[in-house]
Amino acid sequence: MATVTRVWLDESENECTMCGACEATCPEVFEVPEKMVVKAGADLSLDDQILESAEGCPVGTIAIEYDNSGKRDNPA
Ligand code: SF4
Repeated sequence: MATVTRVWLDESENECTMCGACEATCPEVFEVPEKMVVKAGADLSLDDQILESAEGCPVGTIAIEYDNSGKRDNPA
């Protein structure tokens, strides 16, 4: 099973709208004080919730890297 090794805000195509959906889905990892930030020391083993958050992001600005691949995956 793929392991999440990095999660970040990717605004290369769209900007975070500060909707809060990611924080609502996975508050252990995401918070939205203004734009989304990944919490320091976030538990990346919560891969199902992280993927669900990324898929649910309305503008596709949550990027995920698996297995230190260096590749970005924006599931939305
Ligand atoms: S779901 Fe997407 S647009 Fe909404 S706050 Fe999170 S990163 Fe920003």
